[in-house]
Amino acid sequence: MHELTLAEIARGLADKKFSSEELTRALLTRIHQLDPQLNSFISVTDELAISQARAADARRANGESGALLGAPLAHKDLFCTQGIRTSCGSKMLDNFKAPYDATVVSKLAAAGAVTLGKTNMDEFAMGSANESSYYGAVKNPWNLEHVPGGSSGGSAAAVAARLLPAATGTDTGGSIRQPAALTNLTGLKPTYGRVSRWGMIAYASSLDQGGPLARTAEDCALLLQGMAGFDPQDSTSIDEPVPDYSANLNGSLEGLRIGLPKEYFGAGLDPRIAELIMASVKELEKLGAVVKEISLPNMQHAIPAYYVIAPAEASSNLSRFDGVRFGYRCENPANLTDLYERSRAEGFGAEVQRRIMVGAYALSAGYYDAYYLQAQKIRRLIKNDFMTAFGEVDVILGPTTPNPAWKIGAKNNDPVAAYLEDVYTITANLAGLPGVSMPAGFVEGLPVGVQLLAPYFQEGRLLNVAHRYQQVTDWHTRTPTGF
Ligand code: GLN
Repeated sequence: MHELTLAEIARGLADKKFSSEELTRALLTRIHQLDPQLNSFISVTDELAISQARAADARRANGESGALLGAPLAHKDLFCTQGIRTSCGSKMLDNFKAPYDATVVSKLAAAGAVTLGKTNMDEFAMGSANESSYYGAVKNPWNLEHVPGGSSGGSAAAVAARLLPAATGTDTGGSIRQPAALTNLTGLKPTYGRVSRWGMIAYASSLDQGGPLARTAEDCALLLQGMAGFDPQDSTSIDEPVPDYSANLNGSLEGLRIGLPKEYFGAGLDPRIAELIMASVKELEKLGAVVKEISLPNMQHAIPAYYVIAPAEASSNLSRFDGVRFGYRCENPANLTDLYERSRAEGFGAEVQRRIMVGAYALSAGYYDAYYLQAQKIRRLIKNDFMTAFGEVDVILGPTTPNPAWKIGAKNNDPVAAYLEDVYTITANLAGLPGVSMPAGFVEGLPVGVQLLAPYFQEGRLLNVAHRYQQVTDWHTRTPTGF
């Protein structure tokens, strides 16, 4: 049963081939058996899952239907879940039980989804390797010595290992698309404002966006359908109707204009990945797409701009963790300052502290203009580059990452080396655009992802292209040995 996709599960449940409770119990058993190898879950919510599964079965027995009614999922551990630990991968929130559900969580629960647990992640979503979690590194099921990508690495590893069909993630600079690429999944980052951020613990509020991780584009469409929509609780949520993301999956690609940014294929890209990306372009050409070289001239400034803006917003967002109101508090504080300082020094890990320092520095009176304001200007230039490009093409295609998954620990002493892995993903966040990563082949047994970007609110177009591609390729069906 663990091989089933969300779409197959929906059909199986509708045809009464199995109940949600049977499926849920089977997957929980699998998680308890196999996850110790991967460390992809921070909390497994057996009781909640079984009660939700029973409730979904009862709703189906009463004649209700729906693609997510009885579907087992897990949430990245930064989506607040009422009464359940919501740790954000941090010692700071190890003891935090959220008093309410995030909008994404309550929407999916209302659609009848079953929560199997909360997945491991880089601490406060900062990272590209899932090594900075207080709960330990997550392993890549394709090779347990390698990272699964981050920061939604727990969601990615769990879905890739067939512990469950799909999971939620968040993407601030690539954290859905990059782990999807590194574990052979399909992962979609929606347009900024498409999915509510209410109850999603903030890293960099102007960049953060929740989205689905699954094996297929078809499943991403189903999960996104359950997540997307206007939320009056989130002031950056956009009041646009949500289209039916499954309606045009089979649409023709005849005449689809694909742009290949020349900057994406320069130095730094593993040539074996470049080859696989060009093979994926050939497949899309066979389906009728036409390819054109384009330019995103300001892309070279994206990493420096992002690594000013994201830490700046993080330093502000994380100021709420002060040892007073949430989470960890140090022992025997001597006075209030000591309470703040030691609670934060002991509660936050090294990468989070590094980002807070960088961000506070970039926002400080003497440096605001030189760093933060400059980075915001670059952000606008990057957005303008995309607007120009989308005047000429319908989607932009390139690699998701410059390299396949690296060995756990390999970049630990060099944070900048890890930051460089985000080169192809962060521009979409800076511009607020939607993007998807889908499986495109393997290098030395490790998965490679191809990324597609589209204009605002064109998630449906991305899913259409990805679905048609997955009908003529079988990379996404490959399963890691041992799972
Ligand atoms: N790797 C990027 C960072 O560390 C992106 C993380 C994310 O998208 N949450 O900031």
